Amino acid sequence: MSFTLAIVGRPNVGKSTLFNRLVGKRLALVDDQPGVTRDLREGQGRLGPLRFTVLDSAGLEEATDDSLQGRMRRLTERAIEAADVCLFLVDARTGLTPTDHALADLLRRRAKAVILAANKAEGRAGEAGWLEAFGLGLGEPLRLSGEHGEGMEDLLAALTPLA
Ligand code: GDP
Ligand code: MG
Repeated sequence: MSFTLAIVGRPNVGKSTLFNRLVGKRLALVDDQPGVTRDLREGQGRLGPLRFTVLDSAGLEEATDDSLQGRMRRLTERAIEAADVCLFLVDARTGLTPTDHALADLLRRRAKAVILAANKAEGRAGEAGWLEAFGLGLGEPLRLSGEHGEGMEDLLAALTPLA
């Protein structure tokens, strides 16, 4: 059984880092500098027994934090269309922004299924951001650290019934 998972979220929340962990190859560029990756990247993801197509939505770097610009909206809409499940990442360290709320609205209206995750949640610094993410109205957020590989069992548990 196979499905398509799209990783969505505003720039810099850690989408490409998590994509790389799931795909296990450096197919998506990760950089501290926004503006490196473009468009939708596709790879073959693995998590526990699951095998799936994973999309990394990039190319959002020109969207400002205050507005959901056309390009970001169009790209996220494409990812939503292509995906059976959207993994919506927010940054547990910076907290929510207006863009996160706008993306949450888009996902709530359009996505077939959404898994919300507070990423960068390793250590104590992510606690407040994780709690804040409940306010997006997309259920209990997972606590993930794509960089450190934390929360992958919870991600597997969330994906399994949708696979
Ligand atoms: P993207 O723009 O959403 O694709 O984000 P990237 O994957 O390129 O990551 C943006 C920045 O966040 C980089 O500096 C990453 O090293 C950092 N980052 C990604 N995942 C984590 C994480 O789990 N924890 C922390 N602390 N930093 C992370
Ligand atoms: Mg990226």
